[in-house]
Amino acid sequence: MIKAKLTWGIFVVVVIILACGGLALRPWNAGVPLDDSSLTASHGGAGEIASSNVEPLSEEKAVSPTSTVTPEPSPSSTVTPLPPTITPSPTPTSTPTTTPTVTPTPEPQPTPDGIARRLRVPILMYHYVSVPPADADAIRRDLSISPQKFEAQLKYLKEAGFTSITLHDLMLHLTTGYSLPEKPVVLTFDDGYVDNYEFAYELLRKHGFTGTFFLVTAFQDESRPEYMSWDNVVEMHAGGMEFGAHSYNHADLQKQSVDYLVWQILGPREAIEERIKEPVRFFSYPSGAYDDQVVAVLRSAHYWGAVTIRQGTLHSSERPFELRRIRIHGGDSLGKFVDDLNYWLYEKQ
Ligand SMILES: [Zn+2]
Repeated sequence: MIKAKLTWGIFVVVVIILACGGLALRPWNAGVPLDDSSLTASHGGAGEIASSNVEPLSEEKAVSPTSTVTPEPSPSSTVTPLPPTITPSPTPTSTPTTTPTVTPTPEPQPTPDGIARRLRVPILMYHYVSVPPADADAIRRDLSISPQKFEAQLKYLKEAGFTSITLHDLMLHLTTGYSLPEKPVVLTFDDGYVDNYEFAYELLRKHGFTGTFFLVTAFQDESRPEYMSWDNVVEMHAGGMEFGAHSYNHADLQKQSVDYLVWQILGPREAIEERIKEPVRFFSYPSGAYDDQVVAVLRSAHYWGAVTIRQGTLHSSERPFELRRIRIHGGDSLGKFVDDLNYWLYEKQ
């Protein structure tokens, strides 16, 4: 009899709870998915660019915890089911504290903190570092800087207080606030000419700089004499140089199929990684040409960013695949180099 009363009492309580449930559970239920959406919103708030920015930068490892978190809502729905749940009305509040799921975030790899950052850093764009042959055409001459001129530029940068960083450092700063030297500069070299190994590498080391070299890996595979070899790559990497991909064979990547892009983008990445035993995170668009599809494939291939041939020094965590550079012209004097640098660094908006 007492038992029956008790059960009846409990039943009444449950009914009341359920009646209020619409109200009581709502905010709590809503709270769970909100966590997810607030996560996305906090990643810069600038909609598609900011959230897409976050994706490639997070490691594969960093992604998995996120997906482990999402299932969180399920405990909440386990509670909502009315029938057997007699007393558990208070329990739910504690259940969502499944926060520990987040803790397993892997230690070494950076996870973007969602804060939008902008920074002016000159990314210099070099090609040949050698004296062009006598019969070289205007384009070739413009792309070639003599080792002497190159060294003069390095000396200037050093005296002016610049410290070279890698693109990896720059992106870590933009996404996690990683601290950079006071006047950072990135020196990039497109195409992977053998003179980069013969002259640039030595001069960079001599003056305490590092460089980022973008390879067209078909040229290494074919052992073309005018391009650095895989052995050169391994040696330079061991000497502190950074490597990125510049496509498989320097083709125009615009308006291409996904399969073709994967071949041009993922292939060289794996080829370089195989040699340097380290992830390749940056890409240089051949001839600066790209479209949305190219960026989408780069993201899915876990690249962190890409350099363009657009002039500028302002970089943003929201646009990691549109890093701007300053083109170095072979015919320019040191004075012109300095003027250009200062113009893009301080005067240009
Ligand atoms: Zn190129």
